[in-house]
Amino acid sequence: MNTQTPSPTRIVILGAGYAGMNAALRLAHHTRGLPVALTLVNAGDTFVERVRLHQTGQVRQRPIGNILRETNVRFVQARVLSITPDAQTVTVQRQDEQETLAYDYLLYALGSSADKTSISGVREHTLAVGDPADAARLHERLAHLPSGGQVVVVGGGLTGIETAAEIAEAYPALRVRLVTSGVLGATLSASGRAHLHAVFARFGVAVQEHSPVARVEAGALISTSGESIPFDVCAWAGSFRALPLGREAGLPVNARDQILVDAALRSVAHANIYVAGDSAALTHDPGAPIRMACATALPLASHAADNLYARLTGGEQRPFGFGYFFQCISLGRQDGLIQFVRPDDSPTERILTGRAAAWVKEAVCRYAAAMAATPFGARNHRWPKQHRAAQHGDENQREAYQSS
Ligand SMILES: Cc1cc2nc3c(=O)[nH]c(=O)nc-3n(C[C@H](O)[C@H](O)[C@H](O)COP(=O)(O)OP(=O)(O)OC[C@H]3O[C@@H](n4cnc5c(N)ncnc54)[C@H](O)[C@@H]3O)c2cc1C
Repeated sequence: MNTQTPSPTRIVILGAGYAGMNAALRLAHHTRGLPVALTLVNAGDTFVERVRLHQTGQVRQRPIGNILRETNVRFVQARVLSITPDAQTVTVQRQDEQETLAYDYLLYALGSSADKTSISGVREHTLAVGDPADAARLHERLAHLPSGGQVVVVGGGLTGIETAAEIAEAYPALRVRLVTSGVLGATLSASGRAHLHAVFARFGVAVQEHSPVARVEAGALISTSGESIPFDVCAWAGSFRALPLGREAGLPVNARDQILVDAALRSVAHANIYVAGDSAALTHDPGAPIRMACATALPLASHAADNLYARLTGGEQRPFGFGYFFQCISLGRQDGLIQFVRPDDSPTERILTGRAAAWVKEAVCRYAAAMAATPFGARNHRWPKQHRAAQHGDENQREAYQSS
């Protein structure tokens, strides 16, 4: 009789943002009682609500250890340095030591960060709203700027809009200018854009459209037309890109270093690597274009976790499906814009504004944090156009796996 205990299946999840945290908690629920070892790796020891990084004031801290307390997930606080898919290992920097983690399945959810390399001077002279360390320095700098100080926000997308409005409301003595290569809120309806312009006029935010930035110098943006736009502080809310780790590991990626995945959300080159959140680039049509967003990161993560679990228990790999419902934009704390969209993300003329919109936006932020970082939320998370999820595998298969 074979009395040896089978070695558990090793699942390593990289990144504890919206995607990684949701996937870890969902997998912990699915695999309870099964011979599975779950490890979650993240650089910091708190769950960062990235959608609040533009906000001034204290954001609630959620230690990852506390979130995982009642689960079987092992937390490793470390920076991921590299992945070797053929050896099925990940190298991490843990304090002063490098460590190698071996996996049977990898779930890659390291998110994205500001693109600081495409335009010269961005890294040296601006602070990126999407990067937690930069965002903290930005708020510190703003708090100490003298009255009349010039703040320039670069980016006319949703992050730039939220940042400019937040700063203008919190620091009415500062001058705020938003500079964008296109138009303000290009993805919004005419009524949505009209509301934005009205709110910015009320806040005194100057909007400079059609001004692509060619380079950044100390204290000034230089536009492609040669115009110099001076600043005391520059908040960068330009485009995001994924980390280069997937590309460096030899995984096929797109121009923004997002890892190409199949319909089941597995790397097209390595079927034991699932990818979720901002790091994933879909190669099938899930029903809508997938932009980097919390709104897509959570569904991608839940779906990847469900498919990974199905893989363990002999269930079917299901294609990811998704549809949008609205875009939520905060305009300071007392105003907002809820832009209703079609499932493919194209805007309708229906909007909600004012305090009601601010309230909805806050509720959505809380909902997202609950779906990512509470066991109850993560296991019950649902989304529009969700294909029937392969959540429970086959109970007979589960038992077979359990006793294998
Ligand atoms: C200011 C702002 C406002 C936003 N507002 C909205 C909004 O209203 N609605 C919306 O849908 N989206 C919004 N977004 C976008 C949204 O925040 C992202 O799309 C979402 O966070 C992506 O989730 P993720 O889990 O893929 O990545 P992240 O949330 O970025 O998580 C990645 C995790 O990986 C960790 N990590 C990264 N590199 C390493 C490494 N080498 N080693 C170890 N750990 C690492 C990070 O520390 C982080 O914990 C906003 C973004 C910003 C910046």
